[in-house]
Amino acid sequence: MSTEFEGLTALVTGGGSGIGLATATLLAERGARVACLDVNPPGEPFLGLKADVTDDASVRTAVAAAAEHFGGLDIVVNNAGIGAAGTIADNPDDEWLRVLDINVVGMVRVARAALPYLRQSSHAAIVNTCSIAATAGLPNRALYSASKGAVLSLTLAMAADHVEDGIRVNCVNPGTADTPWVGRLLDAATDPVAERAALEQRQPMGRLVSAQEIAHAIAYLASPLGSATTGTAIAVDGGMQGLR
Ligand code: NAD
Repeated sequence: MSTEFEGLTALVTGGGSGIGLATATLLAERGARVACLDVNPPGEPFLGLKADVTDDASVRTAVAAAAEHFGGLDIVVNNAGIGAAGTIADNPDDEWLRVLDINVVGMVRVARAALPYLRQSSHAAIVNTCSIAATAGLPNRALYSASKGAVLSLTLAMAADHVEDGIRVNCVNPGTADTPWVGRLLDAATDPVAERAALEQRQPMGRLVSAQEIAHAIAYLASPLGSATTGTAIAVDGGMQGLR
């Protein structure tokens, strides 16, 4: 078992489910002390912090609570996010603003609140969960894609702004991942089993990506092993971007 996170502390948003929970679990297994900020936070072994990323006051309180509990903060995994289907004809302005508030401004709020603590760390890293939707031109995902495109450019801008603070900023671009979110989408289909089979068939590897596979990429970017990596994106998409 590797222990590259020994002595380090991490805050994972959206840590109550899916990719966030898999990441929190992996970082903890490798020695980190981990806080999970979520509207439905998990309990032990994590420090569960109930907060909504759209609420700046609750974010500030949660980030400060994590830093105080651990005596500092080294890693932020900005992962909380929601999906949105539709073309530009389908989503009204208030839905655009709601999704952008969670998926983009939510990451800004968390990172902004964490900055003073990260500046004090000698292993500071932020990893944002982006998506292949940021660059792929997926049909029927205009709002979601725009939100993730913003996460990608935000990642690059933050990396440039904070390189001299010693804070590395990167993102992961998952393809279709087998998380409770995707499970809910499949359950809503008329024939969930056939829908899953069709979804798997569209993947070059013939299967969905697991939350754990994405967690491993996040862990690399967050850990001292990724010490020369900043301002980049790692795709964990079963070949979706490169092979299709
Ligand atoms: P999930 O629904 O399983 O988990 C998301 C978590 O975020 C939940 O615990 C939820 O409570 C939390 N959350 C949602 N809104 C929140 C808010 N306003 N404040 C605080 N917490 C909030 O989803 P997942 O599949 O694990 O997705 C996690 C991230 O991965 C998202 O940013 C998503 O865009 C991205 N992603 C997922 C996939 C996929 O196929 N599952 C693909 C690409 C990118």
